[in-house]
Amino acid sequence: MQLDKPAEPLRLVERQIPRPGTGEVLIEIAACGVCRTDLHVVDGDIHGILPIVPGHEIVGRVIACGSGADRFAPGTRVGVPWLGHTCGQCDYCQAGAENLCDDPQFTGFTRDGGFATHVVADGSFCFAIPDRFGDVEATPLLCAGLIGYRAFRMAGDARRIGFYGFGAAAHILAQVARAQAREIYAFTSPGDRTAQDFARSLGCVWAGGSDEAAPVMLDAAIIFAPVGALVPTALRSVRKGGSVVCAGIHMSDIPGFPYRDLWQERSIRSVANLTRRDGREFFALIADMPIRTSTTTYPLAHANEALDDLRHGRVSGAAVLVP
Ligand SMILES: [Zn+2]
Ligand SMILES: [Zn+2]
Repeated sequence: MQLDKPAEPLRLVERQIPRPGTGEVLIEIAACGVCRTDLHVVDGDIHGILPIVPGHEIVGRVIACGSGADRFAPGTRVGVPWLGHTCGQCDYCQAGAENLCDDPQFTGFTRDGGFATHVVADGSFCFAIPDRFGDVEATPLLCAGLIGYRAFRMAGDARRIGFYGFGAAAHILAQVARAQAREIYAFTSPGDRTAQDFARSLGCVWAGGSDEAAPVMLDAAIIFAPVGALVPTALRSVRKGGSVVCAGIHMSDIPGFPYRDLWQERSIRSVANLTRRDGREFFALIADMPIRTSTTTYPLAHANEALDDLRHGRVSGAAVLVP
């Protein structure tokens, strides 16, 4: 399913099966999650390379290896995340901050992704997936879970954390938080009872609309929704020294707010991409946690319908495409 031009529907195209180059693997795709970032790519909020096959929550099996790609033997199940390749040379790569690489490639954005039957990936950026997750249920771990985890880690040892927006990422991180005995306060679109019930069912201690005040002062807040107006809202709900973490790649503009809301060492920061280390840590962390992902599957050819459902908040948990 190929994007030719932003704001147009994806188009079903037939292509030759690609051949893996040096260090690359060819993967037969079992399932690919649909992330909000795919929506930003398709809607033209962010600009990569066109035409492009979106999708960066890929689970599949290696069927061929290019020269030097010896990490995963044919037949091995792997996951392909958003970070598809880095230069390895720039100051950021050298400093262990490859998420900020000056010359990166992103799956489904600047190199073809997983809304397809096959994909070629750089083998050194793929992950092994814990066996206990099925192909479909593992897909949201690769971005919602993984980049969500990076945002969650930025909240430090905060005990009371607000989640603004309760979609694919929040539903995974709420379970991690519960396993660590932290308290999650879930803020959904005003009046979205379904999302609030869903949040409570996953162990959130409180769920309400983003127009409601938090029942306690929060140690930190993570904003998963692409809504800039939530930044000053969240800032007013965190205690002195607390932080507001913006987890998305794109957000509407942030309205002005009085300095006193930031005063007292509150901070606002963004989270960009992931490092391979984040992935290793995340998969090790959840290995022994009773985490379940909630998914809605669509046939690959119905990718536009899945994107539209996500755009209009009609997906509970994560949307997943199956070829
Ligand atoms: Zn680099
Ligand atoms: Zn994503």
